[in-house]
Formats: sequence, C-alpha cells, structure tokens
Amino acid sequence: MLRLLRTMLRVGRIALPAPVAPPSPEAPTAEPLPWSGSIQIRHVDAGSCNGCEVEIAAAFGPVYDAERYGARLVPSPRHADVLLVTGPVTRNMADPLRITYEATPAPKRVIALGDCARNCGVFAGAYGVEGPVSDIIPVDVEVRGCPPSPEDIVAALRGLTGR
Ligand code: SF4
Repeated sequence: MLRLLRTMLRVGRIALPAPVAPPSPEAPTAEPLPWSGSIQIRHVDAGSCNGCEVEIAAAFGPVYDAERYGARLVPSPRHADVLLVTGPVTRNMADPLRITYEATPAPKRVIALGDCARNCGVFAGAYGVEGPVSDIIPVDVEVRGCPPSPEDIVAALRGLTGR
C-alpha cells in the first residue's frame, strides 16, 4: 500500500493537458442538449470489430480522461442521455438497437462512432449487415475514422457537454 502511494506521488497526474474545447460536434445537425456540463452515455456495440471499443476505452482511460469533461458511461439506457453506437448494425442487433433507443428517455442524442457506424465501412454489403446506424435510429453526431482516435472521441463528447 505504501509502495503504491509512493508511486502515485512520484508519477503524479498523467492525464494529457486539456486541449481547448472544440467548437461543436462534427455533424451540424446536433443541437446543444438542453442541459450542459454532464452527460450519461450508454455504449451500444451494434456489430463492431472491437477496434472502436479499444479507442473508447482509451478515451475514458487515465490519459485522455473523458470524464473530466462531464462524459460518463452508464450501464443502462434508462440512465442515459446519449447513445454511443459502434459498428455496422447487424441483422441481429437492429431490433435491440431500436429497443435501446426507445428505452432512452428524451431528450437524447445518438453518436455514430466510426466509419462502420456511419456507412458500414469495410463491412458494407456483407450478408449479415442491416445498414448504418442512421438507417435504424436518428443520428445526431458522426465521428469519422476506422477507428476514430481517442482525441476525436473526446472532442465529440465535449461538443455535447460543452466543456
Ligand atoms: S470503424 Fe473500423 S475499428 Fe470501428 S468497428 Fe468498423 S472496422 Fe472496426
């Protein structure tokens, strides 16, 4: 325990310095939420290869530390303001995604994270793919990339929290 405390004191804070707040999310359709400062996010993997999830984990890890901007992952859509959807939507995930969207209280926002969520990416045309996220539920913010960088993920979240 003492060793751990000594290491913590020696290393100090490792999060990157906070960059200037981005002006707005990438998609111009995203109106600011009626509240600011804090959003609760439910992540939905609709068919991702898991590459986007690795970057989400990094975005919420100690270096990029998305929580310091008021973004927090929650385990249920009932607690969420925002759905963070990754992957092309597979046939098996289309209905669960619709149900999750309906279970999220309004007002709510949807982020399509990664090229697969935006336009099916490398999985376009695959037999098990239903379509991009916007074919299933309304999308407010799109984040490009395969996968998007943690910086881009954090910037999109900051566009919604306003911090
Ligand atoms: S955008 Fe790239 S990393 Fe993300 S789910 Fe698709 S293939 Fe994987």
